Amino acid sequence: MDFVIMDLEWNGTYSKHHHHFFSEIIEFGAVKCDANLNVIDEFSMLVTPQIGKKLNSHVKELTHISTQELLDSNNTFTHVLSKFKKFLGDSILVTWGTSDILVLMENCKYYLNRNDIDFVKFYCNLQAYSEKKLDKVDTAHQMGLKTCADLLSVEYDDKELHRALSDSKLTAMCFKRVFDPVKLPKYIESVDDEFYRKISFKNTQIYDFNSPLIDKREMYFLCEKCGRKARRKTKWKVKNRSFRAEFRCLKCKNEFEGRISFKQTYDGIKIDKRISDIKDKTDKNNDRQEE
Ligand SMILES: [Zn+2]
Repeated sequence: MDFVIMDLEWNGTYSKHHHHFFSEIIEFGAVKCDANLNVIDEFSMLVTPQIGKKLNSHVKELTHISTQELLDSNNTFTHVLSKFKKFLGDSILVTWGTSDILVLMENCKYYLNRNDIDFVKFYCNLQAYSEKKLDKVDTAHQMGLKTCADLLSVEYDDKELHRALSDSKLTAMCFKRVFDPVKLPKYIESVDDEFYRKISFKNTQIYDFNSPLIDKREMYFLCEKCGRKARRKTKWKVKNRSFRAEFRCLKCKNEFEGRISFKQTYDGIKIDKRISDIKDKTDKNNDRQEE
């Protein structure tokens, strides 16, 4: 089976008609790869925006696409999408992270009034796969494509990035390096009802101490030195996404700050615990002034 690695460029705009912000696609880029990840075809098309006629300055700067170029291309979203559908065929759609596929869904919803992207049968989020493969899973920070390319020593020209085709080519090069025919299938999803539920789910950090989603039995810390359950000395306070308190080990007198955060995800509540040194008094005073 072939893979189509897709990258989109979009322009953030406000839809007066729908009264909400909208990420309007201005460029489709993709490469098609065979089962051995050799590039066999390319796709690159501009889309003339219908809503945001003027490009945001940061989009212009990042992509070097001009409003005139988009006008000259004279392509509607519907037209470009039909061409892209043909290009995709029954290949597996691959994107780096879920933003591009979510924006594709948002545009299909806007222009075609469709909630699904039924022309996509199988999907793979290469970012999730690569993070696992390279052992760089971090719930707080997702790995950028450039970071991945750097880790894999894949060379790229900075000036050519942020255009749909060149970004999809770079993604394909990274894909080839991390590709493992045994491990990848686990990351290929059928685009079905569960897929839509999962991809539309918004992860949220829980800040309310009284939320029923917080399991207070998890709010303990073991002493790093002796492994014994430490005693909490101070009240819990919320700072930078986590609940924090000072702890003391009654056995070895070790004192530390315990930080715990709760994140609601599609797969359930994810708990993250960290231990750090207690800052000295001067630092604490500075903290208070900042807060
Ligand atoms: Zn101890």
